[in-house]
Amino acid sequence: MSNAPEVFASQDLTGGGEIFRKLNPPARLAVFGDPVAHSASPPMHNAALREQNHQLQYVRILVRAEELPEALRNLSSADFIGASLTIPHKQAALPFIDQVSRESHLMGAINTVAIRDGKLYGFNTDGPGLSAAIFEEFGIPLKEHRVLILGGAGGAGRAITVQCALEGSPSVIIANRNKEKGDLLAQEIQEHLDFPISSIPMTSESLGLAMKSVDLIVNATPLGMKADDPSPLPEGLITKDHLVYDTVYSGGETTLLRQALSAGARCAGGFSMLLHQGALQNTLWFNELAPMETMREALKSSRA
Ligand code: NAP
Repeated sequence: MSNAPEVFASQDLTGGGEIFRKLNPPARLAVFGDPVAHSASPPMHNAALREQNHQLQYVRILVRAEELPEALRNLSSADFIGASLTIPHKQAALPFIDQVSRESHLMGAINTVAIRDGKLYGFNTDGPGLSAAIFEEFGIPLKEHRVLILGGAGGAGRAITVQCALEGSPSVIIANRNKEKGDLLAQEIQEHLDFPISSIPMTSESLGLAMKSVDLIVNATPLGMKADDPSPLPEGLITKDHLVYDTVYSGGETTLLRQALSAGARCAGGFSMLLHQGALQNTLWFNELAPMETMREALKSSRA
């Protein structure tokens, strides 16, 4: 796989994707994003493809927002099996997909495209990936947790909120900076899934009250991506009985995780979610179990 450049252009998918067909092995999977050069997905997926003996590779393609519809249209003629979507395409792709799963509709976004008989199918593995990560990290299924989701009406937050509702977690509280967005999502979920859910603002008072009635706190805000970011939670609210999952996968310890550790609470960062959402994508493309440990090791080395 040494002959692939770091990042391809969206135009490379035109003309039947000749450039991708000529690679050895040919590229038939990609991540679309802008920016995309930083994506950890290629090493993780390529390690899986080698282990599974699929004679194809997964590459990065820089797709600008305005190029997305055409890039998606060209996937099939370029002989691609599918693609991963990252910022800024997860929500924007929905109108250009032939068939979107019910879950992804509710999540309002897709991160996975699979091409079957020339048609584009859309899925969201962020919600199920978080669910698998929670079970791996804490040994308790998502459906048994009373959950507080910080940034619950953002892109990843919405997927996680819907996942909790689909699995039937006993209670879910969305805390969103823009409270109106949280209220709208809560209302939508109540209408579609008949699931009790509440929405609160991200104020010290509301968060303090919410923390008394939840077991699991999930951070789905980007706070923590930069080393000097503050925690999304005020000091002193986490107790040793809480479980804290930070979806941020910066590699380092976020301020939220430091707060959890000093309170004696069990906690984990977003690496496991990244791994599980990728493993679920592999299964959607090949209809076989993903080689999880190989993907885990590849992801670890790529981030070392
Ligand atoms: P997004 O769509 O932009 O949503 C961001 C959310 O965070 C919104 O709810 C936003 O509130 C809130 N927010 C942003 N800045 C904030 C601040 N300073 N204080 C309080 N709330 C703030 O972003 P996204 O794509 O969902 O990504 C969110 C995080 O999830 C990122 O850290 C990303 O790395 C992580 N993620 C991890 C994985 C994984 O596999 N581990 C997968 C996907 C995403 P408003 O609605 O009020 O703007």
